[in-house]
Amino acid sequence: MTTFPNLIGGEWTMGTNSVPNVNPSDINDIIGEAASATADEMNTAIEVAHAAQAGWGTSTPQQRFDVLDTIATEILARKEELGELLAREEGKTLPEGIGEVARAGQIFKFFAGEALRIPGERLDSVRPGVEVDMRREAVGVIGLITPWNFPIAIPAWKAAPALCYGNAVVLKAAEAVPGSAWALADIIHRSGLPAGVFNLVNGRGSEIGPVMIDHPKVAAVSFTGSVQTGRSVAQACTKNLKKVQLEMGGKNPMVVLDDADLDVAVGACLNGAFFSTGQRCTASSRLIVTQGIYDDFVAALSKAVSGLKVGDARDSATQIGPVIDERQLAKDLEYVEIAKAEGAKLACGGEKIDGKGHFMTPALFVDTTNDMRINREEVFGPVATVIKAKDYDEALAIANDTEFGLSAGICTTSLKYATDFKARSKAGMVMVNLPTAGVDYHVPFGGTKGSSYGSREQGRYAVEFYTTVKTSYTQA
Ligand code: NAD
Repeated sequence: MTTFPNLIGGEWTMGTNSVPNVNPSDINDIIGEAASATADEMNTAIEVAHAAQAGWGTSTPQQRFDVLDTIATEILARKEELGELLAREEGKTLPEGIGEVARAGQIFKFFAGEALRIPGERLDSVRPGVEVDMRREAVGVIGLITPWNFPIAIPAWKAAPALCYGNAVVLKAAEAVPGSAWALADIIHRSGLPAGVFNLVNGRGSEIGPVMIDHPKVAAVSFTGSVQTGRSVAQACTKNLKKVQLEMGGKNPMVVLDDADLDVAVGACLNGAFFSTGQRCTASSRLIVTQGIYDDFVAALSKAVSGLKVGDARDSATQIGPVIDERQLAKDLEYVEIAKAEGAKLACGGEKIDGKGHFMTPALFVDTTNDMRINREEVFGPVATVIKAKDYDEALAIANDTEFGLSAGICTTSLKYATDFKARSKAGMVMVNLPTAGVDYHVPFGGTKGSSYGSREQGRYAVEFYTTVKTSYTQA
């Protein structure tokens, strides 16, 4: 039996509890047994991380570069093998799984480079003979809490900057995807990083998550997951005056204007709404289409959605893999019923597929209105809606009329509307003639309103969260 142990202080441990890692494409396929840590194990990991951080915090840029570059090189070299594990445990298609692993490797490459250029500043003082310098230092022990939908990329985009800037890490990955987190920990463990600087403590979020957040030796928490959990994490962190960063859900709009290239618009919406089984925080779940192109767009998109091949994530013919688990599938199907009851018209899909895994046909609703629950609440599955708008101004108003603000897109051939949308969209990321999902790894990622809280993740902006600034004065 394959096991996915936790890594605490440089030692692998299965602890006393474990849970099966189940393939969502075939629930009879048990990938392995994953450690499920107790509160005591979480406390131990934090203590060893705290002890190890002092040394790592004073390591040289060269030492950090070497470790991060070694991690990156191994991840990239093993992207096919790790991509297969990812597809098997999360349900993304194999190309998506391999792509995600490659991205994790590229993120470590990027932060290897950043370790050589940790920013600082020197200014002349307002007082004669005095110099002022500002340097960025590690924060301390950082708790990382991650969701299941990007099982290696999200742990990577938090761990790489944390280590780059001299912090120690305690990672608690999502229960559904322990294999990818274990594989990443294994690579980090063999990279030359001193024992205890990186720890993996998987287990039940509701039990060991609060233990991590409340521990006085955890200086900061970076969380990605649902709004509900994120709120409780933020409340606990602010109560303890800890630094906190949250990336949460979305209800991302994609506006399609009359002047859009129809093929581009259908392609962007198909990808943005349904690829990765719609299980992306940046998924385009509201397609807002102006009246002149509405009928042609609905006809073309319905045809394309009906033609999507749903199946085992690792089958090369599959375009849409399974939903992550039984609970999420029940939630997706419940939202299909909610939408129908609200008067939304089901153009295609929305049915459970009987088989070995958690499958459903991708659902497209048309003739919906923005006040319906299906357009206000995040489903996090292969379910999208179309909303008709009179013109650009109405489409923009509908796009911004949401509690979320992660990503927003527009399909248009008009420079005027594209430019205006980039300026007036209330989202953290804006796409023109591109799907709302699918971002670069070297630039900031994050949203506004209910989608994000705290400073931005990724790219050079990550320095803000993972460092603290020290200002020193020197009289020669
Ligand atoms: P979730 O909130 O259920 O779980 C996220 C993590 O929090 C898991 O590791 C879980 O074990 C842990 N957790 C659960 N209870 C906790 C508690 N009380 N204290 C501390 N930690 C706790 O989310 P999920 O179902 O894993 O992920 C799906 C959600 O993540 C969606 O809402 C999606 O939009 C969001 N997401 C956001 C982004 C982004 O960058 N904005 C990216 C991916 C996913």
